[in-house]
Amino acid sequence: MMKTAMFGGSFNPIHNGHIQLAKAVRKQLGLDRVLIVPAFQPPHKEKSGMASGEARLAMCRLAFEGDPAFEVSDMEIRRQGASYTYLTLEELHAQNPDDELYLLMGADMFMTVHEWKHPEIIFSLAVVCGIPRNSDNAAVLAKQAQLLSTLGAHTRIPDTPVMTVSSTRIRAACAAGEDISALVPPSVHAYIREHQLYSAQG
Ligand code: ATP
Repeated sequence: MMKTAMFGGSFNPIHNGHIQLAKAVRKQLGLDRVLIVPAFQPPHKEKSGMASGEARLAMCRLAFEGDPAFEVSDMEIRRQGASYTYLTLEELHAQNPDDELYLLMGADMFMTVHEWKHPEIIFSLAVVCGIPRNSDNAAVLAKQAQLLSTLGAHTRIPDTPVMTVSSTRIRAACAAGEDISALVPPSVHAYIREHQLYSAQG
């Protein structure tokens, strides 16, 4: 039986926080593969300043190039419409019914996952993993895990190093003409420059 994780998000752009946490969680949970799934339209995020699906996919592919345990999937971008996680999990389950599915998300998303569309489907298909985003939210996450378990969810809170980087910060730094080389891999940095993403002009 394969342990497969879905890691969804806007990835606008993908950054070192996403990459390091995906690698750390894969090791800690013994995941066979991690699918990075950029959303077409994330239902839980504001949509302004969103790079194209094609650009976000390309940056995700560059970020995990050469590491076969990580696959970038275009399933949500191809499906279009609102990128509901329950639909993506249903599709993954239909493709590989014997896989054990894990759903990776940061603490911010973990706090609201019971309010997403069809949480009961999400909870029946995947183990929900809440990843700390800052050092003081462990108790809050544990409490949320308890609430989710009363709703039928299986949860994990991986003990991974906390990284405070966000895509918002990277977009702001680009717009201000600041250096982002410590926040994204060199290949992603080059792509952003080449395609003039997130610059003040466009
Ligand atoms: P934005 O700043 O645009 O809201 P983001 O940095 O939160 O973006 P997303 O693409 O929305 O990035 O994130 C995808 C997933 O990764 C979400 O579940 C989010 O909580 C999680 N995540 C992003 N950055 C971190 C981080 N530094 N630590 C832990 N989880 C993170």
